[in-house]
Amino acid sequence: MTDRIDCAVIGAGVVGLAVARALARAGREVVVLEAAETIGTETSSRNSEVIHAGIYYPIGSLKARLCVKGRDMLYAYLGEHGIEHRRCGKLIIATNGEETTLLRGLLKTGRKNGVGDLEWLDAAAVRGLEPSLRCRAALKSPSTGILDSHAFMLSLRGEAEGDGAAFAFHSPVDGGWVDGGRLILAVGGADPMRLSCRLAVNCAGLGAQNFAAAFEGLAGGSIPPLHLAKGSYFFLSGKAPFGHLIYPVPGAASLGIHYTRDLSGQGRFGPDVEWVEEIDYTVDHGRAGGFYEAIRRYWPDLKDGALRPGYSGIRPKIQIPGEAPADFVIQGPAAHGVKGLINLFGIESPGLTAALAIAEEVVAMLA
Ligand SMILES: Cc1cc2nc3c(=O)[nH]c(=O)nc-3n(C[C@H](O)[C@H](O)[C@H](O)COP(=O)(O)OP(=O)(O)OC[C@H]3O[C@@H](n4cnc5c(N)ncnc54)[C@H](O)[C@@H]3O)c2cc1C
Repeated sequence: MTDRIDCAVIGAGVVGLAVARALARAGREVVVLEAAETIGTETSSRNSEVIHAGIYYPIGSLKARLCVKGRDMLYAYLGEHGIEHRRCGKLIIATNGEETTLLRGLLKTGRKNGVGDLEWLDAAAVRGLEPSLRCRAALKSPSTGILDSHAFMLSLRGEAEGDGAAFAFHSPVDGGWVDGGRLILAVGGADPMRLSCRLAVNCAGLGAQNFAAAFEGLAGGSIPPLHLAKGSYFFLSGKAPFGHLIYPVPGAASLGIHYTRDLSGQGRFGPDVEWVEEIDYTVDHGRAGGFYEAIRRYWPDLKDGALRPGYSGIRPKIQIPGEAPADFVIQGPAAHGVKGLINLFGIESPGLTAALAIAEEVVAMLA
Protein backbone atom coordinates (compact mmCIF):
# COMPACT_ATOMS: atom_id res chain seq x y z
CA MET A 1 0.00 0.00 0.00
CA THR A 2 1.23 3.53 -0.74
CA ASP A 3 0.30 6.35 1.67
CA ARG A 4 0.06 9.88 0.27
CA ILE A 5 1.40 12.93 2.08
CA ASP A 6 2.59 16.43 1.19
CA CYS A 7 6.17 16.56 2.59
CA ALA A 8 8.60 13.96 3.90
CA VAL A 9 11.70 14.84 5.89
CA ILE A 10 14.31 12.09 5.96
CA GLY A 11 16.31 12.13 9.19
CA ALA A 12 15.49 13.52 12.64
CA GLY A 13 18.81 15.09 13.59
CA VAL A 14 18.85 18.78 14.45
CA VAL A 15 18.63 19.78 10.78
CA GLY A 16 15.70 17.46 9.94
CA LEU A 17 13.91 18.64 13.08
CA ALA A 18 14.41 22.30 12.21
CA VAL A 19 13.24 21.67 8.63
CA ALA A 20 10.18 19.71 9.83
CA ARG A 21 9.28 22.48 12.27
CA ALA A 22 9.63 25.18 9.62
CA LEU A 23 7.56 23.25 7.06
CA ALA A 24 4.83 22.44 9.62
CA ARG A 25 4.73 26.10 10.70
CA ALA A 26 4.29 27.07 7.05
CA GLY A 27 1.11 24.97 7.09
CA ARG A 28 2.42 21.91 5.28
CA GLU A 29 1.60 18.31 6.10
CA VAL A 30 4.87 16.73 7.25
CA VAL A 31 6.04 13.22 8.09
CA VAL A 32 9.56 12.76 9.48
CA LEU A 33 11.10 9.38 8.64
CA GLU A 34 13.93 8.41 10.97
CA ALA A 35 15.93 5.17 10.81
CA ALA A 36 16.83 5.17 14.52
CA GLU A 37 14.55 4.72 17.52
CA THR A 38 14.35 8.42 18.36
CA ILE A 39 15.56 11.92 17.45
CA GLY A 40 19.17 13.11 17.42
CA THR A 41 21.10 9.90 18.00
CA GLU A 42 23.88 10.55 15.46
CA THR A 43 26.02 13.63 14.77
CA SER A 44 23.57 15.97 16.50
CA SER A 45 24.39 14.40 19.87
CA ARG A 46 28.09 13.88 19.15
CA ASN A 47 29.49 17.38 18.87
CA SER A 48 30.88 20.27 20.94
CA GLU A 49 27.49 21.97 21.52
CA VAL A 50 29.07 25.30 20.65
CA ILE A 51 27.10 28.18 19.17
CA HIS A 52 29.60 29.43 16.62
CA ALA A 53 29.89 33.12 15.82
CA GLY A 54 30.70 32.61 12.10
CA ILE A 55 34.37 33.61 12.02
CA TYR A 56 36.17 30.96 10.00
CA TYR A 57 34.20 30.29 6.85
CA PRO A 58 35.07 31.67 3.40
CA ILE A 59 33.40 35.02 2.76
CA GLY A 60 30.13 34.56 0.86
CA SER A 61 29.92 30.82 1.57
CA LEU A 62 26.73 29.16 2.76
CA LYS A 63 28.56 28.22 5.96
CA ALA A 64 29.39 31.88 6.66
CA ARG A 65 25.94 33.23 5.82
CA LEU A 66 23.91 30.50 7.52
CA CYS A 67 26.14 30.42 10.61
CA VAL A 68 25.84 34.15 11.30
CA LYS A 69 22.10 34.15 10.59
CA GLY A 70 21.53 30.83 12.38
CA ARG A 71 23.47 31.99 15.45
CA ASP A 72 21.19 35.01 15.87
CA MET A 73 18.08 32.89 15.25
CA LEU A 74 19.36 30.28 17.72
CA TYR A 75 20.07 32.74 20.57
CA ALA A 76 16.62 34.27 20.05
CA TYR A 77 14.99 30.80 19.99
CA LEU A 78 16.81 29.60 23.11
CA GLY A 79 15.88 32.78 24.97
CA GLU A 80 12.21 32.68 23.95
CA HIS A 81 11.87 28.99 24.80
CA GLY A 82 13.80 29.07 28.09
CA ILE A 83 16.40 26.56 26.85
CA GLU A 84 19.63 26.57 28.83
CA HIS A 85 22.57 28.22 27.09
CA ARG A 86 25.42 30.54 27.95
CA ARG A 87 27.09 33.25 25.87
CA CYS A 88 30.45 32.51 27.51
CA GLY A 89 32.64 33.79 24.69
CA LYS A 90 35.74 32.19 23.26
CA LEU A 91 39.40 32.97 22.68
CA ILE A 92 41.16 31.81 19.53
CA ILE A 93 44.83 31.81 20.37
CA ALA A 94 48.12 32.09 18.52
CA THR A 95 51.19 30.53 20.14
CA ASN A 96 53.83 31.65 17.61
CA GLY A 97 54.46 34.18 14.85
CA GLU A 98 52.99 32.08 12.07
CA GLU A 99 49.78 31.53 14.02
CA THR A 100 49.60 35.24 14.84
CA THR A 101 49.55 35.95 11.09
CA LEU A 102 46.78 33.37 10.64
CA LEU A 103 44.88 34.94 13.51
CA ARG A 104 45.02 38.37 11.85
CA GLY A 105 43.56 36.76 8.73
CA LEU A 106 40.75 35.27 10.83
CA LEU A 107 39.95 38.69 12.28
CA LYS A 108 39.51 40.08 8.76
CA THR A 109 37.45 37.11 7.56
CA GLY A 110 35.25 37.17 10.66
CA ARG A 111 34.52 40.88 10.27
CA LYS A 112 33.71 40.45 6.58
CA ASN A 113 31.36 37.60 7.53
CA GLY A 114 29.46 40.01 9.78
CA VAL A 115 30.97 39.04 13.13
CA GLY A 116 31.23 42.62 14.34
CA ASP A 117 32.27 42.10 17.97
CA LEU A 118 35.71 40.45 17.56
CA GLU A 119 38.44 41.90 19.73
CA TRP A 120 42.24 41.56 19.33
CA LEU A 121 44.05 40.82 22.62
CA ASP A 122 47.80 40.89 23.23
CA ALA A 123 49.48 38.38 25.56
CA ALA A 124 49.12 40.61 28.64
CA ALA A 125 45.41 41.17 28.01
CA VAL A 126 44.91 37.40 27.63
CA ARG A 127 46.76 36.76 30.92
CA GLY A 128 44.35 39.18 32.60
CA LEU A 129 41.40 37.13 31.38
CA GLU A 130 42.83 33.61 31.54
CA PRO A 131 45.99 33.51 33.69
CA SER A 132 46.89 29.86 32.96
CA LEU A 133 46.76 30.24 29.18
CA ARG A 134 50.04 30.62 27.26
CA CYS A 135 49.87 32.46 23.95
CA ARG A 136 51.20 35.45 22.01
CA ALA A 137 47.84 36.92 21.06
CA ALA A 138 44.17 36.01 20.93
CA LEU A 139 40.95 36.90 19.20
CA LYS A 140 38.08 37.26 21.59
CA SER A 141 34.66 36.30 20.25
CA PRO A 142 32.03 37.41 22.77
CA SER A 143 29.09 36.01 20.78
CA THR A 144 30.29 32.37 20.89
CA GLY A 145 28.38 30.26 23.41
CA ILE A 146 27.20 26.82 24.48
CA LEU A 147 23.75 25.28 24.55
CA ASP A 148 21.81 22.26 25.70
CA SER A 149 21.45 20.71 22.26
CA HIS A 150 19.11 17.95 23.47
CA ALA A 151 16.67 20.43 24.98
CA PHE A 152 16.86 22.36 21.69
CA MET A 153 16.03 19.25 19.65
CA LEU A 154 13.20 18.23 21.98
CA SER A 155 11.74 21.71 21.63
CA LEU A 156 11.94 21.58 17.82
CA ARG A 157 10.21 18.19 17.81
CA GLY A 158 7.50 19.41 20.19
CA GLU A 159 6.81 22.47 18.04
CA ALA A 160 6.76 20.44 14.83
CA GLU A 161 4.28 17.99 16.40
CA GLY A 162 2.26 20.90 17.75
CA ASP A 163 1.88 22.11 14.16
CA GLY A 164 0.78 18.66 13.00
CA ALA A 165 4.04 16.94 11.94
CA ALA A 166 4.14 13.16 12.49
CA PHE A 167 7.27 11.17 13.35
CA ALA A 168 7.93 7.61 12.19
CA PHE A 169 10.91 5.99 13.95
CA HIS A 170 12.58 2.71 12.90
CA SER A 171 11.82 3.92 9.38
CA PRO A 172 14.93 3.89 7.20
CA VAL A 173 14.28 5.27 3.74
CA ASP A 174 16.03 2.84 1.41
CA GLY A 175 15.51 4.69 -1.87
CA GLY A 176 12.89 6.18 -4.13
CA TRP A 177 11.76 7.16 -7.61
CA VAL A 178 9.41 9.53 -9.44
CA ASP A 179 5.97 8.35 -10.51
CA GLY A 180 3.33 10.59 -12.07
CA GLY A 181 5.04 13.75 -10.86
CA ARG A 182 5.19 12.52 -7.25
CA LEU A 183 8.12 11.18 -5.26
CA ILE A 184 7.76 7.60 -4.06
CA LEU A 185 9.88 6.71 -1.04
CA ALA A 186 10.67 3.10 -0.18
CA VAL A 187 10.57 2.89 3.61
CA GLY A 188 12.24 -0.22 5.05
CA GLY A 189 12.41 -1.56 8.59
CA ALA A 190 10.06 -4.07 10.20
CA ASP A 191 6.98 -2.78 8.33
CA PRO A 192 8.17 -1.78 4.86
CA MET A 193 5.91 0.58 2.98
CA ARG A 194 5.82 3.12 0.16
CA LEU A 195 5.14 6.76 0.75
CA SER A 196 4.02 9.04 -2.04
CA CYS A 197 4.90 12.69 -1.44
CA ARG A 198 5.02 15.94 -3.34
CA LEU A 199 8.16 17.15 -1.57
CA ALA A 200 11.01 15.39 0.22
CA VAL A 201 13.99 16.83 2.08
CA ASN A 202 17.00 14.59 2.55
CA CYS A 203 18.46 15.50 5.97
CA ALA A 204 20.04 12.10 6.55
CA GLY A 205 23.48 13.42 7.59
CA LEU A 206 25.97 10.55 7.27
CA GLY A 207 23.27 8.66 5.33
CA ALA A 208 22.48 11.45 2.85
CA GLN A 209 24.66 10.11 0.02
CA ASN A 210 23.35 6.55 0.43
CA PHE A 211 19.76 7.69 0.17
CA ALA A 212 20.47 9.96 -2.80
CA ALA A 213 22.36 7.18 -4.60
CA ALA A 214 19.37 4.87 -4.11
CA PHE A 215 16.94 7.45 -5.53
CA GLU A 216 16.40 6.75 -9.23
CA GLY A 217 16.78 9.58 -11.72
CA LEU A 218 19.20 11.99 -10.05
CA ALA A 219 21.53 13.67 -12.53
CA GLY A 220 24.85 11.85 -12.80
CA GLY A 221 27.63 13.46 -10.80
CA SER A 222 25.27 15.43 -8.56
CA ILE A 223 26.06 13.42 -5.42
CA PRO A 224 29.29 14.58 -3.76
CA PRO A 225 31.41 11.75 -2.31
CA LEU A 226 31.23 11.27 1.46
CA HIS A 227 34.43 11.25 3.53
CA LEU A 228 34.26 10.35 7.21
CA ALA A 229 36.36 12.46 9.58
CA LYS A 230 36.10 11.12 13.09
CA GLY A 231 36.64 13.48 16.01
CA SER A 232 37.30 12.14 19.51
CA TYR A 233 36.94 13.99 22.80
CA PHE A 234 38.68 13.54 26.14
CA PHE A 235 37.10 14.74 29.38
CA LEU A 236 39.14 16.77 31.84
CA SER A 237 39.19 15.52 35.44
CA GLY A 238 39.03 18.24 38.06
CA LYS A 239 38.09 21.87 37.94
CA ALA A 240 37.53 23.61 34.61
CA PRO A 241 40.61 25.82 34.11
CA PHE A 242 39.13 28.51 31.83
CA GLY A 243 36.13 30.82 31.83
CA HIS A 244 36.11 31.13 28.03
CA LEU A 245 36.11 28.38 25.43
CA ILE A 246 39.69 28.11 24.13
CA TYR A 247 40.48 27.32 20.49
CA PRO A 248 43.84 27.09 18.73
CA VAL A 249 44.01 28.49 15.18
CA PRO A 250 42.12 26.07 12.93
CA GLY A 251 43.66 23.26 10.89
CA ALA A 252 42.69 22.24 7.34
CA ALA A 253 39.92 19.82 8.42
CA SER A 254 38.90 20.99 11.87
CA LEU A 255 38.94 23.85 14.34
CA GLY A 256 41.77 22.14 16.27
CA ILE A 257 41.74 20.42 19.66
CA HIS A 258 39.86 22.99 21.68
CA TYR A 259 38.62 23.36 25.21
CA THR A 260 34.88 23.54 25.79
CA ARG A 261 32.70 22.73 28.71
CA ASP A 262 29.10 21.69 29.00
CA LEU A 263 26.49 23.62 30.94
CA SER A 264 27.21 21.58 34.09
CA GLY A 265 30.85 22.73 33.98
CA GLN A 266 32.40 19.46 32.73
CA GLY A 267 35.47 20.45 30.74
CA ARG A 268 36.47 18.53 27.61
CA PHE A 269 39.05 18.73 24.85
CA GLY A 270 38.59 17.78 21.24
CA PRO A 271 37.69 16.87 18.64
CA ASP A 272 40.80 15.71 16.82
CA VAL A 273 40.70 14.50 13.20
CA GLU A 274 41.00 10.91 12.06
CA TRP A 275 39.93 9.97 8.52
CA VAL A 276 38.08 6.64 8.79
CA GLU A 277 36.36 4.19 6.43
CA GLU A 278 33.55 3.09 8.75
CA ILE A 279 31.27 4.58 11.37
CA ASP A 280 32.64 3.42 14.70
CA TYR A 281 32.26 5.74 17.68
CA THR A 282 34.70 3.90 19.98
CA VAL A 283 37.27 6.31 21.43
CA ASP A 284 40.80 4.97 21.05
CA HIS A 285 42.56 5.55 24.40
CA GLY A 286 45.84 5.64 22.51
CA ARG A 287 44.97 9.04 21.04
CA ALA A 288 45.48 10.66 24.48
CA GLY A 289 49.18 11.30 23.73
CA GLY A 290 48.33 13.60 20.82
CA PHE A 291 45.86 15.45 23.02
CA TYR A 292 48.37 16.11 25.81
CA GLU A 293 50.85 17.44 23.26
CA ALA A 294 48.35 19.69 21.49
CA ILE A 295 46.84 21.09 24.70
CA ARG A 296 50.17 21.76 26.44
CA ARG A 297 51.11 24.12 23.62
CA TYR A 298 48.60 26.55 25.12
CA TRP A 299 48.05 25.10 28.63
CA PRO A 300 51.42 23.83 29.91
CA ASP A 301 49.96 23.11 33.38
CA LEU A 302 47.88 20.16 32.14
CA LYS A 303 48.75 17.33 34.53
CA ASP A 304 49.55 13.77 33.46
CA GLY A 305 46.49 11.55 33.92
CA ALA A 306 44.03 14.48 33.84
CA LEU A 307 42.38 13.35 30.58
CA ARG A 308 39.98 10.43 30.27
CA PRO A 309 38.36 9.12 27.10
CA GLY A 310 35.02 10.77 26.35
CA TYR A 311 32.99 10.28 23.19
CA SER A 312 33.36 10.80 19.46
CA GLY A 313 31.46 12.14 16.49
CA ILE A 314 31.93 11.73 12.75
CA ARG A 315 31.92 14.68 10.39
CA PRO A 316 30.01 13.99 7.14
CA LYS A 317 32.65 15.67 4.99
CA ILE A 318 32.52 16.20 1.28
CA GLN A 319 36.00 17.73 1.47
CA ILE A 320 38.62 15.36 0.09
CA PRO A 321 41.21 14.55 2.80
CA GLY A 322 44.13 16.96 2.45
CA GLU A 323 42.22 19.43 0.26
CA ALA A 324 40.47 22.71 1.08
CA PRO A 325 37.31 22.65 3.24
CA ALA A 326 34.04 22.35 1.31
CA ASP A 327 30.87 24.38 1.78
CA PHE A 328 27.45 23.05 2.81
CA VAL A 329 25.58 21.70 -0.23
CA ILE A 330 21.83 22.32 -0.41
CA GLN A 331 20.66 20.94 -3.74
CA GLY A 332 17.33 21.48 -5.44
CA PRO A 333 16.08 20.31 -8.85
CA ALA A 334 18.37 22.74 -10.71
CA ALA A 335 21.33 20.67 -9.49
CA HIS A 336 19.95 17.13 -9.65
CA GLY A 337 16.89 17.25 -11.92
CA VAL A 338 14.21 15.79 -9.61
CA LYS A 339 11.31 18.16 -8.92
CA GLY A 340 10.29 18.33 -5.26
CA LEU A 341 13.50 16.83 -3.82
CA ILE A 342 16.07 18.72 -1.77
CA ASN A 343 19.33 17.03 -0.80
CA LEU A 344 21.56 18.31 1.98
CA PHE A 345 25.17 17.13 1.88
CA GLY A 346 28.23 17.88 4.00
CA ILE A 347 26.32 19.41 6.91
CA GLU A 348 29.24 19.32 9.31
CA SER A 349 30.13 22.14 11.73
CA PRO A 350 28.55 24.72 12.08
CA GLY A 351 25.38 22.73 11.27
CA LEU A 352 24.03 22.82 14.82
CA THR A 353 24.42 26.60 14.99
CA ALA A 354 23.03 27.06 11.48
CA ALA A 355 20.10 24.59 11.72
CA LEU A 356 17.32 27.19 11.98
CA ALA A 357 18.79 29.20 9.08
CA ILE A 358 19.27 26.04 6.97
CA ALA A 359 15.59 25.24 7.57
CA GLU A 360 14.55 28.72 6.37
CA GLU A 361 16.69 28.27 3.27
CA VAL A 362 15.06 24.92 2.49
CA VAL A 363 11.53 26.26 2.99
CA ALA A 364 12.33 29.16 0.66
CA MET A 365 13.64 26.74 -2.00
CA LEU A 366 10.49 24.62 -1.77
CA ALA A 367 8.25 27.67 -2.08
C1 LIG B 1 32.89 16.16 16.25
C2 LIG B 1 31.87 17.18 15.82
C3 LIG B 1 31.79 18.40 16.49
C4 LIG B 1 30.85 19.36 16.09
N1 LIG B 1 30.70 20.51 16.83
C5 LIG B 1 29.78 21.42 16.46
C6 LIG B 1 29.58 22.59 17.24
O1 LIG B 1 30.17 22.78 18.29
N2 LIG B 1 28.70 23.53 16.78
C7 LIG B 1 28.01 23.36 15.62
O2 LIG B 1 27.27 24.26 15.23
N3 LIG B 1 28.12 22.21 14.90
C8 LIG B 1 28.97 21.25 15.31
N4 LIG B 1 29.09 20.08 14.61
C9 LIG B 1 28.22 19.87 13.45
C10 LIG B 1 26.82 19.43 13.85
O3 LIG B 1 26.85 18.48 14.89
C11 LIG B 1 26.12 18.85 12.62
O4 LIG B 1 26.22 19.76 11.56
C12 LIG B 1 24.66 18.56 12.85
O5 LIG B 1 24.45 17.82 14.02
C13 LIG B 1 24.11 17.79 11.64
O6 LIG B 1 22.77 17.47 11.89
P1 LIG B 1 21.98 16.58 10.86
O7 LIG B 1 20.58 16.61 11.31
O8 LIG B 1 22.32 17.02 9.47
O9 LIG B 1 22.66 15.12 10.98
P2 LIG B 1 22.41 13.95 12.06
O10 LIG B 1 22.35 14.47 13.44
O11 LIG B 1 23.46 12.92 11.78
O12 LIG B 1 20.99 13.38 11.69
C14 LIG B 1 20.76 12.61 10.55
C15 LIG B 1 19.68 11.61 10.90
O13 LIG B 1 19.30 10.91 9.73
C16 LIG B 1 19.06 9.57 10.08
N5 LIG B 1 19.19 8.78 8.85
C17 LIG B 1 20.30 8.49 8.14
N6 LIG B 1 20.01 7.78 7.04
C18 LIG B 1 18.66 7.63 7.03
C19 LIG B 1 17.74 7.01 6.14
N7 LIG B 1 18.14 6.42 4.99
N8 LIG B 1 16.42 7.02 6.44
C20 LIG B 1 15.97 7.64 7.58
N9 LIG B 1 16.81 8.24 8.47
C21 LIG B 1 18.12 8.26 8.18
C22 LIG B 1 20.10 9.26 11.13
O14 LIG B 1 19.70 8.16 11.93
C23 LIG B 1 20.13 10.58 11.91
O15 LIG B 1 19.24 10.58 13.00
C24 LIG B 1 30.00 19.09 14.99
C25 LIG B 1 30.09 17.87 14.32
C26 LIG B 1 31.01 16.92 14.74
C27 LIG B 1 31.07 15.59 14.04
